[in-house]
Amino acid sequence: MELLDRARQAAADAGFDVLLVSPGPDLRYLTGYQALPLERLTCLVLPARGEAFMVVPLLEEPAAQAALGGGLELVTWGETDDPYAKIAARLGSPALAGLDNHMHAEKVLRFRAALPGTEQGLAGDVLRELRMRKTPAEVASLRAAGAAIDRVHRRMAEWLRPGRTEHDVARDIADAILAEGHATVDFVIVASGPNGASPHHEVSGRVIEAGEPVVVDIGGTMPDGYCSDSTRTYSLGEPHSDFVDLYTVLLRAQVAQTETVRPGITAQELDGVGRGVIAAAGYGEYFVHRTGHGIGLSTHEEPYIVAGSPLPLEAGMAFSIEPGIYIPGRFGARIEDICVCTPDGGERLNLTSRELVVL
Ligand code: ZN
Ligand code: ZN
Repeated sequence: MELLDRARQAAADAGFDVLLVSPGPDLRYLTGYQALPLERLTCLVLPARGEAFMVVPLLEEPAAQAALGGGLELVTWGETDDPYAKIAARLGSPALAGLDNHMHAEKVLRFRAALPGTEQGLAGDVLRELRMRKTPAEVASLRAAGAAIDRVHRRMAEWLRPGRTEHDVARDIADAILAEGHATVDFVIVASGPNGASPHHEVSGRVIEAGEPVVVDIGGTMPDGYCSDSTRTYSLGEPHSDFVDLYTVLLRAQVAQTETVRPGITAQELDGVGRGVIAAAGYGEYFVHRTGHGIGLSTHEEPYIVAGSPLPLEAGMAFSIEPGIYIPGRFGARIEDICVCTPDGGERLNLTSRELVVL
């Protein structure tokens, strides 16, 4: 497995003797295995020198075998075995082990007890360097995810109508996220009227009224594990002129940012492009979050497009560009596209109209 070799090399370069990766996006990225995050230990053991192996509970062996084929040695353990001791016996006493960033604390502590002479670090320091640079195949997966969520946004007029509650609309959207090709629904934000001023509004029983703007931010995971995430802002009938003014500024900011994407620009510079447009129009204090986040097998991952990040963008990086303006007590708006940095600029993976959609 070429990817395991790259991870092994990166681990060695970073001074790790072994990476220990439990179920989650990191494991799926490295092996393709979407293992269940059980209390029983499933763990990829990737030594910097030596062969990788996968430790799985005996009852998970058929599932692991099916997912991995013969590509990786499987080490099974029965209900009365101690898998941590088993791993320790094979590893000896590594000086530094990298544990995946989302490993459950109880497993981290069991590893600490089984490997008392081993210092623990974060495997994410190594894996994010690989995961944030997408291969063409990964970009194709994200493009398919983007097209799927675009199909849901294009159907919004079927569900978003005055007199319905946010809950009603969100339920229909969730059904459509699945119907349009996702394997799971990850989130559905329907934020109407003053609720639109809360960027991560929890869907409520509020009845949506005519003339109100509604922020719809939705995403899911495709069968191959790649995620979608797109926000559009709708208006149920003619919007208030104050809202039109706000939206015009927001659209200008978002368009400027998507057109600025190119290799070499830093994350903080890209954030600043949108923030500058919004601040110059007097809305600076109402843009209360970063511009965006990386996306791949997780909805939120590196690179983060945020003030203070000197990370230069590179071809293959994929991330959201989602500026928003939120006026407490009145309304809010956000426009979000997933963008991929290419050698000659940026490619948007969400292609529905970014204009305010009047339904
Ligand atoms: Zn979103
Ligand atoms: Zn997002």
